Amino acid sequence: MTSKTPLPEPFLTPSGDPWLLTPGPLTTSLSVKEAMLRDYGSRDQVFIDINERVRRSLVEIIEGGDEFTTVPMQGSGTFAVEAMIGSLVPASGKLLVLVNGAYGERICKICSVYGRAFDKLSYAEDQPVSASDLDAALRADPAITHVAVIHCETTSGILNPVAEVAAVARAHGKSLLIDSMSAFGALPISSQDIHYDAVAASSNKCLEGVPGMGFVLVRKSVLEQCKGNSPSLVLDLHDQWVQIEKTTQWRFTPPIQCIVAFNRAIEEHRAEGGVAGRGGRYAENCRVLVEGMRKLGFQTLLPDALQAPIIVTFHKPVDPKFDFQKFYDELARRGFLIYPGKLTVADSFRIGCIGRMGVREIRVALEAIEAVLTEMGVQNCTPVAA
Ligand SMILES: *Cc1c(COP(=O)(O)O)cnc(C)c1O
Repeated sequence: MTSKTPLPEPFLTPSGDPWLLTPGPLTTSLSVKEAMLRDYGSRDQVFIDINERVRRSLVEIIEGGDEFTTVPMQGSGTFAVEAMIGSLVPASGKLLVLVNGAYGERICKICSVYGRAFDKLSYAEDQPVSASDLDAALRADPAITHVAVIHCETTSGILNPVAEVAAVARAHGKSLLIDSMSAFGALPISSQDIHYDAVAASSNKCLEGVPGMGFVLVRKSVLEQCKGNSPSLVLDLHDQWVQIEKTTQWRFTPPIQCIVAFNRAIEEHRAEGGVAGRGGRYAENCRVLVEGMRKLGFQTLLPDALQAPIIVTFHKPVDPKFDFQKFYDELARRGFLIYPGKLTVADSFRIGCIGRMGVREIRVALEAIEAVLTEMGVQNCTPVAA
């Protein structure tokens, strides 16, 4: 079933590029890329309609009805997260951040830069954050006004219990802000099931658009109270929202081709069956990937119950013949780009299961991995840390 010899030709995407087995930017469909081959006037009705459709569709994904609005933001995902924190947590507020990886730490950093009071509940990278700890922390410190949590902490690929966290935050009357960057569109986060005030994500992860914009879905009744909160001009969500509602225009040059491609990507998301369809394909990708890697002897950082079907962290093999740079380069030559590890606790690497690909591509990637291991003379893929 698996070939021991290197593939003669690299296995490439329909556009002739390597497959991106990364957490984003991701492999996008040819039709999403093709949507960018046009020029649009930002004040022309054609573009205005597309922009409004994107904003409305994103609210529909969380079943936000009239209660939520989409505030788009130029830049990468972190711009949207920074905009969310800076605009929603007032100078008089205090944010409690649930941290089990680099993206939780990044929210703490944003608070430091903005001079916002914050505290954190920290966990190891292979442990989910805890709703009962949150409950105790909120009892202990009445000064806390807001709570922030990462949906899927991409550092490890772990799924955090956002529904439980949301229930506790709500019981204490605290405002919950969610960074759902690497999960949005693939894992459910309906506002009908989970109570939160804002969720941030971006165009280039599970919605399979191209990089260039983030967005924050915010409860309107909350956003209305946020005028003047943001210490930043460009990252002011309230101002961006007011301007778009009043004039139909983003405040500063919108990333037009990115938005138009995003509109196309959202149509394809809908056609695939929305969150359930997209999440189902990724879950299959993840299952096949983990099963195949374990067959080769690799071990995952996380037990299956904690693993989000987004990106999988594998321990580096103990075998001295395993050289990550060579492994990376040889896989790249065969058409697959993987990702280095970001853990502080263990030597590892990561393989993503998101983007415009299915189990067929994952199976070919596994064949390529086996071929490269053979070529390197690696006999033992069990980890140092086991
Ligand atoms: C990707 C990601 C971000 C944003 O990263 P950018 O590099 O700024 O796009 C934020 N949070 C999480 C959990 C992510 O996975």
